[in-house]
Amino acid sequence: MGKRIKISNQEIGYQVSYRDVEYPRLEFKTGSLVLILPRDSKSEEEIIKKHKDWIYKKNNLIQSALQDLKNEKLNTKRTDKELGNFVNQQASDFSRKLKVDINKVFLRRMKSKWGSLSSRKNLTINTFVKYLPNWLIKYVVFHEMVHLIERKHNERFWKIIGAKYENYQRYETYLLKYWFLIQKEINC
Ligand SMILES: [Zn+2]
Repeated sequence: MGKRIKISNQEIGYQVSYRDVEYPRLEFKTGSLVLILPRDSKSEEEIIKKHKDWIYKKNNLIQSALQDLKNEKLNTKRTDKELGNFVNQQASDFSRKLKVDINKVFLRRMKSKWGSLSSRKNLTINTFVKYLPNWLIKYVVFHEMVHLIERKHNERFWKIIGAKYENYQRYETYLLKYWFLIQKEINC
């Protein structure tokens, strides 16, 4: 806890987590650097040194995402019940518009994604969406539901998305930025 490294002009905080893993790896999933090392590893500094360019780039990306959203406020007023109603409403709207069937909608905290869709057509949305503006929650639900038509992020998928959200790249970018803002303000 509370360790820091300096790479060029950046001071980057990080944590070390010893786990039952075979190889060391680095994660930025929560917006801050975690070094995951095998339990017998002693090579903390070596691994950082080896990956310093990647760490530097990733950290830059996150810092600029936070900077871009510095005037945005997370919605902290929405209750779980309101969120559930809103997500269900969107899901049934899109189910009609896209002519797809959906089984159930679940809200669950997930570590690294906004939503997922099971082969049984259950839609799971990350409870973190509750902090997003409505227009982005709608997009998340729509994105997941288009996966009922096309599972992969291929040309066909983006074409369907693009028919409703012409500038969907902007939405995807916002989601990435909000992810880091939520990790920073809520999840720490
Ligand atoms: Zn997707």
